Amino acid sequence: MAAPLLKDILYYQTGGRCQEFVEPATIAELAAAIKRLNAKGTSFIPVGAGTNSLFMDGDYSGAVISFRKLDALEISGKKIRVGAGVDNTFFSEAVYNAGLAGAGWMNRLPGQIGGTVRMNARCYGGEISQIVREVTVVTRSGDIVTYNEPKNMFRGYKDTIFMTNGDLVCEAVIELRSGDMQEVRSKMDFCAKDRIGKGQFTHPSCGCVFKNDYAVGVSSGMLLEEAKVKLMKHAGAEVSPAHANFVFNKGATARSILELSVMMREAVWVMFGVWLEYEMEILGAVPKDLELTIFEERPASYNLEKLTPLRDRMKAALARSSSGQDTLNSV
Ligand SMILES: Cc1cc2nc3c(=O)[nH]c(=O)nc-3n(C[C@H](O)[C@H](O)[C@H](O)COP(=O)(O)OP(=O)(O)OC[C@H]3O[C@@H](n4cnc5c(N)ncnc54)[C@H](O)[C@@H]3O)c2cc1C
Repeated sequence: MAAPLLKDILYYQTGGRCQEFVEPATIAELAAAIKRLNAKGTSFIPVGAGTNSLFMDGDYSGAVISFRKLDALEISGKKIRVGAGVDNTFFSEAVYNAGLAGAGWMNRLPGQIGGTVRMNARCYGGEISQIVREVTVVTRSGDIVTYNEPKNMFRGYKDTIFMTNGDLVCEAVIELRSGDMQEVRSKMDFCAKDRIGKGQFTHPSCGCVFKNDYAVGVSSGMLLEEAKVKLMKHAGAEVSPAHANFVFNKGATARSILELSVMMREAVWVMFGVWLEYEMEILGAVPKDLELTIFEERPASYNLEKLTPLRDRMKAALARSSSGQDTLNSV
């Protein structure tokens, strides 16, 4: 199959062609493909739905690995074996239809199971680490390995071992529970309504560009909003009017999205002395002239006069949150 244009298949709609597009239908096929790529010295990048990543412009001289065909979903009692390529919303609906509770929060969470496991995605009081029991991966050297100790995979907020070792997540075993299915439906409906109400799907984005930093005690969205980045525009990239941590692609290149993110990060630095860390995964090569800026790290230099009132506001919002939702990390 000819390699598709990446911007046509990735949610953020950036990226050119890759040298090779690998779309295995089984885990063994993926393992063999990785061994073959390694033997040829071809680099490779895994992609899910592209809802948390930005593929850089131009052609990529390696292989792109897609999990779309690893889309099996087998329910056996309360355990579900699910392929990396299964869409989160599809999964949430399927397990709801099977009378299982515990995955309502995944309704309308963009992305596929593989990317969701790798990113330890979370929202509306749920986190994928809470329900995953086992993950089968293909390592960077092409071996098939199964992890069955969640604590060896999930290291905390938006942090997993797969982000460091580069394992390719192929399938997960998820364990759910029985529960009040009306409550689950209400949760699913709430998640969908809330996201739609916040205009999250009006244009392509990667969700939050920056992670929250719990040491700061204020969400990155609030810091960005106070730093007046909302509606900031740059060459087709635009900060969402509803969420200052979302950058919409309205005809942008990956480069212009990155440049806008740099301006946002700088605005927060100047006002609060907080150096935001990217949540958005940058795939492919960052242009040389942007490398130093993008990968720069600055030690925190908090402006407490500005931060303290926001911390108080955040604490009050957390206390008010009747749903028990973690407002600091909500969408
Ligand atoms: C509108 C919107 C709202 C969002 N809201 C939230 C939210 O509330 N909470 C939240 O946590 N996230 C949120 N996100 C981000 C996104 O939904 C999640 O991170 C999702 O889990 C990413 O899945 P994906 O398949 O799109 O990953 P991708 O973006 O395709 O990939 C993410 C990273 O994982 C790697 N990768 C992809 N698949 C695999 C695999 N099978 N094995 C190994 N590595 C892989 C990629 O190389 C990349 O580094 C939002 C995004 C959007 C667009």
